[in-house]
Amino acid sequence: MNSIWLPSTRLVFFRLVKIIIIVCVFPFPFCFSQNTGSPFVWPEGKHMAISLSFDDGRTSQVDSGMALFDQFGVKATFYVVPSAVKQRLEGWKQAAANGHEIGNHSVNHPCSGNFLWSRTRALEDYTLKKMRDELMECNKQILELLGVRSEVFAYPCGATFIGRGKKTKSYVPVVADIFLTGRGWLDEAPNDPSYCDFAQLTGMESDGKDFEQILPLIETARKDGLWLVLAGHEIGHSGSQTTRIAMLKKLIAYAQDPANGIWIAPVGEIAKYIKAQRKDLYSKAYSEWRK
Ligand SMILES: [Zn+2]
Repeated sequence: MNSIWLPSTRLVFFRLVKIIIIVCVFPFPFCFSQNTGSPFVWPEGKHMAISLSFDDGRTSQVDSGMALFDQFGVKATFYVVPSAVKQRLEGWKQAAANGHEIGNHSVNHPCSGNFLWSRTRALEDYTLKKMRDELMECNKQILELLGVRSEVFAYPCGATFIGRGKKTKSYVPVVADIFLTGRGWLDEAPNDPSYCDFAQLTGMESDGKDFEQILPLIETARKDGLWLVLAGHEIGHSGSQTTRIAMLKKLIAYAQDPANGIWIAPVGEIAKYIKAQRKDLYSKAYSEWRK
């Protein structure tokens, strides 16, 4: 007898090998970023991406930010609370008409009750259903006010939980179910397009910083082919929780210099590109494996 294997055993063995190859080799393109040989490619030879995002729908975003962005032809993402939109309704309508992205930031901006202003709407007292209902209500109000269907969300205070103690739950799955993306706050690293979870995109603070403090973040992101999502609140020359106009001007000039290879666009636009690229990579890897 040439082989000690029965035909069925041999079949099982080869199937097992096939499964091992699929599990170990197939996810290959998702495990490496650009500097480590990833086939992930940013469009038009760019080396990284930046999104400028702002929360709460504060009036200074309309009063001081829009003119600046429109002057330089930059589109940003604004995560709004509907009650704030009503303070500058015409301005927000114009922003949407000019191509800026309008995202959802909830109706009541619930955060931990450790913030005394959030005690009556504390995440510790929320349920997943209450959160889902509120996010859907926010989408409905944004649609009524601005005629826009929000595809992106920013977690108020960057918090992703509801409840407390053993009954704590994550509401990330709710966000993943409703939105294209969910963005955090005060995060410490940019997003790796080959790996990031769209429901938990990182958001790095742009408030209170000069361009010289932002530049190292950009350089690190470019080296590794990453997506830097900056997050701020007020837009002005100085003050607390304020992304400075002088910093934005320098950042936009830097990002628009072709020599720097930066794609600057709203969160949703970049997320859609990455999703399409990942799908493409997956099918390419699969056809390679089938050869
Ligand atoms: Zn907020």
